[in-house]
Amino acid sequence: MLITKAPKGTQDLLAEDTHRWHFIEDAMRTVCALFGYREVRMPTFEHTELFTRSVGDTTDIVQKEMYTFLDKGGRSVTLKPEGTAGVARAFVEHGLYAKPLPQKMYYLYSPVFRYERPQAGRLREHHQFGIEVFGAASPTADAEVIALALNVLSRLGLGKMQAHINSIGCPECRPEYQRKLRVYYGDHRERMCPICSERYERNPLRLLDCKAEGCRALVDGAPSVLDSLCESCADHFGRLKEYLQSLGIDYIVDPRIVRGLDYYTRTVFEIIATEIGAQSTVCGGGRYDGLISEVGGPPTPGIGFGMGMERLLMLMEKRGVEAPDPGLLDVFVVALGEPARLEAVRTVGGLREAGIRADLDHAERSAKAQFKFADRLGCRFTVVIGEDELSAGTVRLREMARSREQCIPADALMNTLRKALEEPYE
Ligand SMILES: [Zn+2]
Ligand SMILES: [Zn+2]
Repeated sequence: MLITKAPKGTQDLLAEDTHRWHFIEDAMRTVCALFGYREVRMPTFEHTELFTRSVGDTTDIVQKEMYTFLDKGGRSVTLKPEGTAGVARAFVEHGLYAKPLPQKMYYLYSPVFRYERPQAGRLREHHQFGIEVFGAASPTADAEVIALALNVLSRLGLGKMQAHINSIGCPECRPEYQRKLRVYYGDHRERMCPICSERYERNPLRLLDCKAEGCRALVDGAPSVLDSLCESCADHFGRLKEYLQSLGIDYIVDPRIVRGLDYYTRTVFEIIATEIGAQSTVCGGGRYDGLISEVGGPPTPGIGFGMGMERLLMLMEKRGVEAPDPGLLDVFVVALGEPARLEAVRTVGGLREAGIRADLDHAERSAKAQFKFADRLGCRFTVVIGEDELSAGTVRLREMARSREQCIPADALMNTLRKALEEPYE
């Protein structure tokens, strides 16, 4: 049955898992606030041309992985394959370049769509956390962006992370490096994979991050981009390293990091979770000084990163990091009989107004079934109202885990519960 199965490469987030996402999102919001970033929310789809212009029409993303279609008006639109282009478009559209710069912003839970091969175990719709800084040319911004990413990861308790940094130069010095790469790879064309043979002409930088075995062997002998940087790129990279040091951030210079998008200039970086036997990139980003003018704005330097939420969750699971689960309810009100039900409705209303998470039975169950239901919901307390309690103006308050029960005046319930909830559980 097709209609009871989600499309390949998509994932449902069910209620019992949402607190894990909230835990990550809370950490991101907290850290972004500390660094002076504000949240933005962009549309899920954009004009296709935005991505061919910014991400680059020779990249794998644009050539093979985009969800592109004509809408009913015959316009080509694309579900966004990455987060930065849409924010850059908004920056230009709303004239944010005329505001005090830099403009620092972040986005959370932003869906990203890529039509990838299912055997790679990757989702076709996944979610990203990302930040963008527009109007900051100084390498202090590069250091800040890397520090922010590390700060989020450390708050999540994910263990050892390593920043890998590189500079891929600017339009001044990159052509010379590309020429050197073509000379080097020109002698080894027969050893390259078919994809790299294509890249050789149109995007030689990508030769460096090919995962095919034969190509990986070639990378070791390839000239380093760092030897081709112009004076100002070299100075920028040198200062970034100093700022990272002054922040106490451990980094590795890795000239093989290029990132797969055309809009990057100068700094590119990845944050890698290091584990015995396995390494995984949890964050990737870089500087994109040419992006804003590419999408029609005034020349404006910028830098940012993206972090896959699902990948963070996988890593949390692998490393046994448990997100705190606040549970569903504080108290469940059990009513015995119809007159008591009326009182239960009133009581639950009052509890909720007082900020206590409360619920009652909506299925008209027996008393026994109500207790069982409350237990399955994991409520810490139940309040029992029966005929006797009604006539006496009392309620029975039971702490489920301790099987402790007390009879108290109905009008004392709120204060008693409030005090009891302040005590730590268990
Ligand atoms: Zn340069
Ligand atoms: Zn290759």
